[in-house]
Amino acid sequence: MARPKVAFFDFTCCEGCQIEFTNYGDAAFLELIKHVDVVEFREAMSEKTKDPIDIALIEGSFSREADRPRLEEIRKRAKIVIAYGQCATTGGINALKNHTTDYKKCVYGKDAEMPHLDSQKALPVDAAIKVDYKAFGCPVNKYEVLQIVSHLLHGKEPVIPTYPVCVECKRRETVCRYQEGDHCLGQVARAGCGAPCPADGIPCEACRGFADSPNEPALEKALRSAGLPERRAKEKSRMFTANQRSDSK
Ligand code: SF4
Ligand code: SF4
Ligand code: SF4
Repeated sequence: MARPKVAFFDFTCCEGCQIEFTNYGDAAFLELIKHVDVVEFREAMSEKTKDPIDIALIEGSFSREADRPRLEEIRKRAKIVIAYGQCATTGGINALKNHTTDYKKCVYGKDAEMPHLDSQKALPVDAAIKVDYKAFGCPVNKYEVLQIVSHLLHGKEPVIPTYPVCVECKRRETVCRYQEGDHCLGQVARAGCGAPCPADGIPCEACRGFADSPNEPALEKALRSAGLPERRAKEKSRMFTANQRSDSK
């Protein structure tokens, strides 16, 4: 059987998710490239392809209408499309701009009106094309992507967690950050990371976005009970979930 062709593409993002994969010393990634041909991967190789692809991995949000044809062209060529990283799966941090009008000035100052900075709302890739699977996280958890690809190559349906980080945190018997006076978002954050942050004494910031059916009012209540002022309690989860919150714009 021919080796599956895998290509990495980027749209509006910091390319941090691609960089995750360029830690080539990692044994799991070295194992992957024994089984697939990586045919395009801007952070690591200069070759490009116009050929059909078995798996397209797309990083970055859809934030310019001008990017739609390229996305459609990738979709047409790829048997399977995986959106990877929070920008591609939900709009990620880029979607914070959907909630403000002065972001260009804040970020670029006197260069704010440069034409290449024109953009629309930051949206997930599936706002433009059909996506088959999503691998969440900012940055993405590369082991999760490798597992998804491995399952697909073995004809197995990948399982993406829908439940919150607290489940994984309790499984590893970590003392809850709330007991230490912290303000953790694990109740609403999507699991799949294995809850490393609370285990290291750091509150979860929901870098994988919301779990399915997040209880936002309950989170706000918990944060307020733990001492956060009303506005902070209301806004705290927005960093990685701007497009997922009930007040998303
Ligand atoms: S998800 Fe995070 S690390 Fe990945 S490209 Fe977006 S901003 Fe960068
Ligand atoms: S530390 Fe955070 S993730 Fe862990 S149980 Fe407490 S709220 Fe949940
Ligand atoms: S514990 Fe929270 S912040 Fe840490 S990796 Fe998991 S989802 Fe991201």
